[in-house]
Amino acid sequence: MDFEKASLRAKELRDTLNYYSKKYYVDDDPVVEDDVYDKLQRELADIENNFPSLKTPDSPTQRVGGTVDNRFDPVVHTVRMESLQDAFSEEELFSFAERVNSAVDNAEFVVEPKIDGLSVSLEYENGVFIRGSTRGDGDVGEDVTENLKTIRAIPLRLSRELPFIEVRGEVYMPHDVFFKLSEEQELKGEMPFKNPRNAAAGSLRQKSPAVTAKRRLSIFVFNIQRVEGETLSGHKESLDFLKELGFKTVPFYNKYSSFSDAVKEVRRIGEIRGTLPFDIDGAVIKTNSFAQRAVLGSTSKFPKWAVAFKYPPEEKETKLSDIEITVGRTGVLTPTAILDPVNLAGSTVGRATLHNQDYITEKDIRIGDIIKVRKAGDIIPEIISVVSHDPSGTPYLIPSVCPSCGAAVIREEGEAAVRCVNPECPAQLLRNIIHFCSRDTMDIEGLGEAILKSLVENGMINNPADIYSLTPSQISSLDGLADKSAENLINAIEGSKKNSLSKLLFALGIRHIGEKAAKLLAVRFGDIDSIINASVEDILSIDGFGEVMAKSVFDFFSMPQTIDLISRLKDAGVNMKTLEEVSDTRFSGKVFVLTGTLPTYGRAEATKIIESFGGKTSSSVSKKTDFVLAGEDAGSKLTKAQSLGITVIDENEFKKMCGDKTE
Ligand code: NAD
Repeated sequence: MDFEKASLRAKELRDTLNYYSKKYYVDDDPVVEDDVYDKLQRELADIENNFPSLKTPDSPTQRVGGTVDNRFDPVVHTVRMESLQDAFSEEELFSFAERVNSAVDNAEFVVEPKIDGLSVSLEYENGVFIRGSTRGDGDVGEDVTENLKTIRAIPLRLSRELPFIEVRGEVYMPHDVFFKLSEEQELKGEMPFKNPRNAAAGSLRQKSPAVTAKRRLSIFVFNIQRVEGETLSGHKESLDFLKELGFKTVPFYNKYSSFSDAVKEVRRIGEIRGTLPFDIDGAVIKTNSFAQRAVLGSTSKFPKWAVAFKYPPEEKETKLSDIEITVGRTGVLTPTAILDPVNLAGSTVGRATLHNQDYITEKDIRIGDIIKVRKAGDIIPEIISVVSHDPSGTPYLIPSVCPSCGAAVIREEGEAAVRCVNPECPAQLLRNIIHFCSRDTMDIEGLGEAILKSLVENGMINNPADIYSLTPSQISSLDGLADKSAENLINAIEGSKKNSLSKLLFALGIRHIGEKAAKLLAVRFGDIDSIINASVEDILSIDGFGEVMAKSVFDFFSMPQTIDLISRLKDAGVNMKTLEEVSDTRFSGKVFVLTGTLPTYGRAEATKIIESFGGKTSSSVSKKTDFVLAGEDAGSKLTKAQSLGITVIDENEFKKMCGDKTE
């Protein structure tokens, strides 16, 4: 590569890596896998080595990770929170050993798992936790003391009253907590975190400690940054000391005098990594002796006495025996590959995510294919490519009906997901019901998530309309509910029947229809039957409604399941009329064509009046035209209207139709 090409590529790589870094560190929302990021970073480092003048001080190869967000107070780290040099092969590990052994004699090494979380510093004065911060850019981090206090594994008081100690650890989210959080996020219709690392970072960097507390984070402490009142000479000894003080240290660590044995341990950790209940993204080999560390020193970014081995994502071939479709609580149909089980990174993999139809089509994944599956740093395996097709296989299409309820599914323009929008779909029931009862919708006080969950689990509610047939005895049969609360609940349910139509419309959870749009719909149409009978054009005529919203409303009320639900709600006595001030919609759904010169109105004025009454104007006459408003010198449009038998009116008649409002 010549200098010019290298310079262009280096710039391109810096821009890309900076973008990926911002998404990863600042937004907690990575857009590529870590190994993709690592490869690009490697490529940039190689270019910079070959052409040192291309190495800029702000290059991602020269910087330690993240940034500092102004939501938090800055903390200047007395001891720099360094990064680690990477090794992607055993050869690179042995080069590290050579560098160490050429500088110091008889080095011993400690091997630990590299926890995939978020690095923090914890400071203790006289044995009491006084401050905690994120790594930030290594020199300045963010003060997240209150959030860290919510992590049970962080001792607030140590077993010894040391004058001062600062330790470094990795905050992480255990797998079971991550899965539970993802489920809850899906239930609320929120975007789940991509992996436990991002979940941990996103949860710790919260403005409210109460939110962090709910996320049940944990920590592994792996280093002493500074200590007063104790003299330690090696790493293994200091980890043992940290344990004694009450810290939860890295889950296993061993000391080796032979580097080959240390490498064996790295291999062993690689083999078991899939079985650990938390994510690791490598193993770290550290020189044990602190005196030797001082001799080895650091670069601007990492210590020369440690190396992080990054495991390559493991890949295996296997057969895709089936594709299973599950309906999430937001109605999205998710395809999952069912695989002939293979052992990947120490655990048996029998399923892999297929994301959506585009992903399946792009890779042309078919049932019966031999595919290559991999498990990267993430816990969820995925298919990389098809090795060979089954000769009898056909391209796979996600079903056009919901496997849970049989309703037709939709795929909106520009969306990768296919979803079921049936308000009665059992897979979405709990989420729909929670939304239906919440404060901004039907506002049924007392019917919160916990009670609804047990009502659904006990089969007492299978549909939002079932809420209105609940009996006091059914409610009081639920655990922990006193008679009085059951009575209050029945009263709240009864009270919700009087809500305005706009609340009900919002409660039905129509896609793209929020509180404001629900109100506009209610005000424009006045009652539910007019909405059911409205065309897409009728709905589109509402100011503020675009095509996607209008189509979503139309599709929703075209489903037999919706009609059935509405009829059950009507039978239960739920109000179906608008209580807000109804605007005059006398021309709702009507199409006017204007032709010739009107005696008093200009065209623009007449159009405005028509639209203010909910009508629409069109420039050409067709069978869909309801009225032609003709003035003097009307030409071909009038003739066409007459030939099609369309009602022709003059300005006077138009004024009468508008009533006194235009006078
Ligand atoms: P690093 O994460 O690779 O290594 C340093 C970190 O390892 C330290 O901060 C430390 O907290 C942590 N660590 C965990 N266990 C440890 C142990 N036992 N001993 C010592 N340290 C331990 O380096 P980095 O500079 O923080 O981040 C780079 C990583 O972030 C890479 O893995 C990269 O792939 C990833 N990244 C990914 C993206 C993306 O878009 N996917 C973007 C930016 C960075």
